[in-house]
Amino acid sequence: MLKSFIEVSPESDFPILNLPYGIFSTQENSNPRVGTRLGDFIIDLAFLDEQKLFDQQYGFFVDTSLNRFMSMGREVWQRIRQRLTELLSEGGDTVWEEAMRMRALIPAGDVQMHLPVVIGDYTDFYASREHATNVGIMFRGKENALMPNWLHLPVGYHGRASSVVLSGTDVIRPRGQVAVKGSPPEFISSRQLDFELEMGFFIGTGNPLSEPISIENAHEHIFGMVLLNDWSARDIQAWEYQPLGPFLAKNFATSISPWVVTMDALEPFRVQGPHQDPAPLPYLKSDSPSGYDITLEVTLQSAAMDDAQTISCSNMKHLYWSMEQMLAHHTVTGCNMRTGDLCGTGTISGKIEDSFGSLLELTWRGEKPIQLPGGEERKFLQDGDTVVMKGYCQGDGYRVGFGEVTGKIFPAK
Ligand code: MN
Repeated sequence: MLKSFIEVSPESDFPILNLPYGIFSTQENSNPRVGTRLGDFIIDLAFLDEQKLFDQQYGFFVDTSLNRFMSMGREVWQRIRQRLTELLSEGGDTVWEEAMRMRALIPAGDVQMHLPVVIGDYTDFYASREHATNVGIMFRGKENALMPNWLHLPVGYHGRASSVVLSGTDVIRPRGQVAVKGSPPEFISSRQLDFELEMGFFIGTGNPLSEPISIENAHEHIFGMVLLNDWSARDIQAWEYQPLGPFLAKNFATSISPWVVTMDALEPFRVQGPHQDPAPLPYLKSDSPSGYDITLEVTLQSAAMDDAQTISCSNMKHLYWSMEQMLAHHTVTGCNMRTGDLCGTGTISGKIEDSFGSLLELTWRGEKPIQLPGGEERKFLQDGDTVVMKGYCQGDGYRVGFGEVTGKIFPAK
């Protein structure tokens, strides 16, 4: 197995087989710039580029976002990944001088992370059959759980890019209209604030207007993935969502993890997705395995708790619709995707209760509250609650992971 000259624990999310990309700054150099992560170190790629350690000087590693790098396309992504692997692998330390390594390697605790991508557009899908079924049963009853379109296309809506925030950003409880039975609606602080366990994927290279991305080519347009928490106000959502879908219930905050894990790092963890019956229309049909075996976990910690409690364990492989299908569907009209666009998969729920990816499902809309140590219980999120999501692919003796996306709830303003 490929190893680095830097010691990395088998439980670390960031062995040399990962090499994700992010934007960081340090106290000594406050310019946000591109880095990768290896074990407990950040590697300053702007410095490596300046020292001419790549095959050419790329220039885009000094940028404050990954966008220019992402727009270069797969061939450049792979060339840089290969060179980084060379420089950082066992024996690679002979290729560059110790003085350089001292400058390039920064302890992870000494950096501040920034939003990695300038996000032009954000689209959120609804690709988990289990999640769609659960929500459908709660809102419309068992007979009408899945809408007639659901098994034929990946349902999605255009979300809000401006409020996509980095992990660790405070989440302020939103206010809005909610329905009151038999009376006019009320304007309140949401009483049903929720999280949604999702994965996000970033578009590397886009497509020109009116030229759809085919299902066969979809994969090479995707730069990489992050953990995504699509915070949701269920009471606002229930009143506003018909007929155009969610609006204010989802536009106040969407949190993402700081490290973008590349599709090349995730390649060994591709698996066959669920069998699709009825067969999708030809523009959505693909025979290549397009699911990913990514273990996902959600923890909740209230202000009163000493430790976080795990409340859900799910896996990306449960998703019915693949990212390739989402992208082919998104662009089939000729809609143009652009570098840096973000797509969310939708809440990733598994079949069993412990694997549901939202409180709405875990507590069955508040009917079955979650019991927390210390006697507290939760139907929905309270002020002071912290939600942490983690994700990783388990290899043989190593992990390729995403780190975490965390957010704490603060009172409405
Ligand atoms: Mn969502």
